[in-house]
Amino acid sequence: MNIPNNWLIRNASAIMTGLSGSEARIAGPDIRVTDGRIAAIGRLEALPGEALIDARDCVVYPAWVNTHHHLFQSLLKGEPQGLNQSLTAWLAATPYRFRAAFDEHSFRLAVRIGLIELARSGCATVADHHYLYYPGMPFDGAAILFEEADALGLRFVLCRGGATQTRQLEADLPQALRPEKLDDYLADIERLTAQYHDPASDARRRIVVAPTTTLHSTTAEELCETARLARRLGLRLHSHLSETVDYLDAARAKFGMTPVQFCAEQEWLGPDVWFAHLVKLLPEEIRLLGSSGSGIAHCPQSNGRLGSGIADLPALEAAGVRVSIGVDGAASNEAADMLSETHAAWLLQRARKGEQAKPRYAGGTFEGGADAASIEDVLRWGTAGGAQVLGLDALGTLQVGQAADLAIYGLDDPRYFGLHDPAIGPIACGGRASVKALLVGGQRVVVDDRLPGLDLAALGREANAAVLQLQRRAGVRR
Ligand SMILES: [Zn+2]
Repeated sequence: MNIPNNWLIRNASAIMTGLSGSEARIAGPDIRVTDGRIAAIGRLEALPGEALIDARDCVVYPAWVNTHHHLFQSLLKGEPQGLNQSLTAWLAATPYRFRAAFDEHSFRLAVRIGLIELARSGCATVADHHYLYYPGMPFDGAAILFEEADALGLRFVLCRGGATQTRQLEADLPQALRPEKLDDYLADIERLTAQYHDPASDARRRIVVAPTTTLHSTTAEELCETARLARRLGLRLHSHLSETVDYLDAARAKFGMTPVQFCAEQEWLGPDVWFAHLVKLLPEEIRLLGSSGSGIAHCPQSNGRLGSGIADLPALEAAGVRVSIGVDGAASNEAADMLSETHAAWLLQRARKGEQAKPRYAGGTFEGGADAASIEDVLRWGTAGGAQVLGLDALGTLQVGQAADLAIYGLDDPRYFGLHDPAIGPIACGGRASVKALLVGGQRVVVDDRLPGLDLAALGREANAAVLQLQRRAGVRR
C-alpha cells in the first residue's frame, strides 16, 4: 500500500499555530507537508505527488500533546464506589482496588480505548504515567503501551511509575499490590531506556522516570537516587504533586517542610521536571517552581471531578513555570480527551479568577476573570507547552520546519453554527469537533473522523465485557 506522506492542505478557514501574541494565528490558507515536516504555509499550488486535503470550512490546530494520563483507567470510568470521593478515598476505592484485577487482555483494551479517544480529539502525543507495576507481573505493560501507540501511529512517552513503599491505603485492601525494590525499579528504567528511548526532538518513543508520588512512593533518599539516574541517562522526571491539601499536611508531618521544598531537597526540580496537578501551592512554592523552570501538567477535569480545586495557571506562568495540559486517568475524568480538557481549562481558569473578585468597597479591583485565559493561551498550553515540558521541541507548533503533527477540525455540528470566529470553535464550544484529519509526522491517523480499520461498535462491546470481568475480579457484587 502506498501511504502518502506529502500533503497539500488547502483553503483552511483558520490556522492556529500554538505560538503566542501576534504569531498565534496565521493566514495560510494552505499548508504543505513534505516528508513528515511542514514545508510551507501560505497560498500554495499543488506539486506533483502531493495528496490533497480539502480544509474548506475547517480549522487547523497543532496536534495536542497530552502530558499526564493513566491509560489503564480507561476501563474504570464512573466507578460507583469512588464517584463521589475526594482524592485519597477515591484512590482506595477505584484505581488501587481495581488495578490488580487487570490482566494482559483488559490492560491492552484499556490502553487502546484511551488512545483512540485521544486520537479522535486530535491528540498526537501521549505521555502516560504508568504505575501498574508489582514484582512478578505476568505481562509487560510497557511493551503493550508502545505497541498500541505504534499501531495507531501516535507518539508515546512512557512515564515509568511505581513505588518502593506500600501506602497504608493499599495495605488494607484485599488485592494489595506489593511494591518493587528500588534496584529493580532502577534496573527496569535502564532496560526501557535501552529498548525504547529516543532523545530526538521529534521522537516517537520516550522514557521518563516517574515514581507514582513524590511524597509517598519512595523514601527521600530513594527519590533522590531516581533523579540522579534520570540525569545520568538524559531522561526527564515526572510525578504527581500538590493535588490536594493532603500534600501540604503530609509533607509537614513527614518532613517538616512544604511539598515543593521537599522536591527541591531531593533534586526533583528543574526544566527537566514536570508535575501533574499543582493545585494547592503556597506562594513560596510557586516561586521555587518558577525559578527552577519546572513544568505543570494541568488536569482541570480530574481536579474538578475529585473536588481538588483549580491550579492558578496565570500565577504559575508568570513565575516561570512551563504550562501544559493533561487529561489524567479516566477513573477521575470521564472525558479523557484533549478537546474536553482544554474546554474545561478555558472555563475554569476564568471561573477561578472570578472567585477571587471582591466588591470595590472591600478593596476589590476587578469584576470578573474573563482575562485569565484566552483561547490562544489554552491552545498554546495544550500544544507548544506540552512539547516543551516533554522536551519534544520539533512538535507543538505549526511553523515551517516543525514536524507535521496537526489536527484539522470540521465544524459541522450545530453547536458550531453561528460562530463569528471559527478558529475558537473546537475549544470554546465544547463537545467533539469532527476530525477531518489527524497527521502525526505527516502520517494520516484519522481520515474523515474515522480511524481506518477500527470497528468502534465492537470495541464498545469488548469494553462492556471487560468491565464485568474487572468487577468480578475486584469482588463487586451485582
Ligand atoms: Zn494522575
